[in-house]
Amino acid sequence: MSQPQLPVSRLPGASGVSVSFEFFPPKTAEMETTLWEAVSRLAPLAPAFVSVTYGAGGSTRERTHATVKRMVEETSLKPAAHLTCVAAARSEVNAIIRDYWAAGVRHIVALRGDPVGGAGSSYEPHPEGYHSSTDLITAVKAIGDFEVSVAAYPERHPESATLFTDIEMLKRKVDAGADRAITQFFFDNDLYFRYLDVVQAAGIEIPILPGIVPVQNFKQTATFAKRAGASIPAWFAERFAGLDDDVATRRLVAAAVCAEQVIDLIDRGVTHIHFYTMNRADLVYAICHLIGLRATSAASEPKQVTNQAATQIATEVATQVATQVATQVAAA
Ligand code: FAD
Repeated sequence: MSQPQLPVSRLPGASGVSVSFEFFPPKTAEMETTLWEAVSRLAPLAPAFVSVTYGAGGSTRERTHATVKRMVEETSLKPAAHLTCVAAARSEVNAIIRDYWAAGVRHIVALRGDPVGGAGSSYEPHPEGYHSSTDLITAVKAIGDFEVSVAAYPERHPESATLFTDIEMLKRKVDAGADRAITQFFFDNDLYFRYLDVVQAAGIEIPILPGIVPVQNFKQTATFAKRAGASIPAWFAERFAGLDDDVATRRLVAAAVCAEQVIDLIDRGVTHIHFYTMNRADLVYAICHLIGLRATSAASEPKQVTNQAATQIATEVATQVATQVATQVAAA
């Protein structure tokens, strides 16, 4: 009788799934500590890349730059800097791109960005700025040989009349040079797989990485989701119902729900997961462990005895034994 085939997520090492992590730049000294604690905990999992967001309206320009630069200088991570077209002239945006190149950054997440009045208001480009994400991608690629990631929306962008107009926009981004897309977060995996089908039917071949948000606080996630046009299925909301004041249970449920979503993606053929970490490592770390990722840094692995050290130890032991034997022979 042939053995039943194990789901991919149960294979040793979860079949080499890779991950990436999104962080946001800290506002205060306390948030700075939280961010770097999260970075040091997650870095040994060897993510394919990490990304750092750019605040709405370009509000975190310096902080994003400082965070990305520190990652380049102090870690072995490959950071991707998010950049938007909002509230900046082309010359300013170009200067930022050049600074990134000079700092050794080789990956940019190129976005149009939300309107200055917030998501839902109408988008007015800066009079001397880039008008769209496609303009920005073209500029980034012209300035340096950057990898470029872009945003994708399995449930369509709120400004898009239909999913097809949204996919047309994604196609234009690919034509402008986008190397991969990262999706808006979603909770119903079927939405993601249906989106992949439509994207592929449109002839788009770049990887579309699923963006996964571990729910740290359901109320807050629901507010974000509404703004971003991401739906929350009734069954998903039900899992968090009644837990607003029960932090301990909520954390366990959040871990279980996220594990369920990620494992289902992997069992259905996904090979890369992008986590919106919200600068918190614990839950993401646990999910990564569950899917077979292990810390790879020298600090987290047992020390190996080098050949040279081994030879030295062997010589010392042999000398000690020889001396002992000689002493015993002489005494006999
Ligand atoms: P685009 O893809 O250029 O456009 C989005 C949609 O708008 C299109 O799909 C289309 O429906 C419509 N549209 C735009 N232009 C046209 C046109 N000319 N004709 C017809 N329709 C058009 N925001 C930040 O401020 N900072 C960040 O760091 C950040 N990171 C993000 C990371 C990811 C992975 C995602 C998914 C989103 C992120 N956002 C961020 C949010 C993003 O800036 C907003 O969703 C913004 O409203 C759209 O940016 P975009 O690059 O997706 O725009």
